[in-house]
Amino acid sequence: MNILWRSVAGLAVLGSSHFAFAEFPDKPITLVVPFVAGGPSDKIARDVAEALRKPLGQTVVVENAGGAGGTIGSAKVARATPDGYTLLVHHIGMATALALYRKLTYKVPEDFETLGVVNEAPSVLIGKPGLAANNFAELRQWIASSGDKVNLANAGVGSASHLCGLMLQSALKANMTPVPYKGTAPAMTDMLGGQVDLMCEQATNAVPQIEGKKVKVYGVTSLQRLQLPVLKDTPTLAEAGLPGFNVQVWHGLYAPKGTPPAVLARLNAALKLALTDPDLIKKQEALGLTVTTGERLEPAGHRKFLEAEKERWSQVIKAAGQYAD
Ligand code: ASP
Repeated sequence: MNILWRSVAGLAVLGSSHFAFAEFPDKPITLVVPFVAGGPSDKIARDVAEALRKPLGQTVVVENAGGAGGTIGSAKVARATPDGYTLLVHHIGMATALALYRKLTYKVPEDFETLGVVNEAPSVLIGKPGLAANNFAELRQWIASSGDKVNLANAGVGSASHLCGLMLQSALKANMTPVPYKGTAPAMTDMLGGQVDLMCEQATNAVPQIEGKKVKVYGVTSLQRLQLPVLKDTPTLAEAGLPGFNVQVWHGLYAPKGTPPAVLARLNAALKLALTDPDLIKKQEALGLTVTTGERLEPAGHRKFLEAEKERWSQVIKAAGQYAD
């Protein structure tokens, strides 16, 4: 009896671990995006969630956990059960939060498993409608004559827009007034209403507004011009008078540390397939995004890139002397 029980129990243990991995995922997956709905990160998360549905055979539900520049959502995933059912899609903030916050409840990369870099997402410096500057040279003068009365919107300390604004102020040796939001979607609404003056925003959200001539555009924040029809004549900020200015946003997919290797492998394989989805590629390219291929799509390549970005930005942030609690 005892022997029989032991062998049945043994089979059950073997079976359960086998099926736990073989059948993953057997229920919907939650993809946390650490900003509010309607912004660039949210858009990317929704496109990726949709493209992951087929290779995973499960629905991927996007959950917005905005606030504190992306650190609230990141902390939530760092603490989640590491079973592959709670994932995070986050941008460059993963590499910069540590240098920006004195108190952070999670560690990067220690508390996460890297699943692959999703894309590169260029940003542009935009201004409210009617702003009395038609190019970057004029904007520079306007900022110099307006002092700290200039409002600079961002998605909280650690967000890409915050980081870019920080770089801008330091390059211009100007003090502007930062206005934090829980994501750049509400910041864009306020910019359209004329309540905030300037913002660095990812092309993802900015392009439709630039096309509709609803906002002014002053420069591309990364080193290459964008090939999108509406932006191909827009200079980079480096060309426009801020040599070396380079804020290039990218997004990555993460799981909590300790997620079983077989589950990670399944998720990485699904991400690779999702990123070859012609629909996803078309949608991303139309918004100026470059879908990742090659080494950075491997967990080890993603981790290496994350470490390099963390190192690079910590130097820049330290030099700017910028911290939050
Ligand atoms: N674009 C935002 C940022 O500045 C975040 C967002 O709302 O997607 O980081």
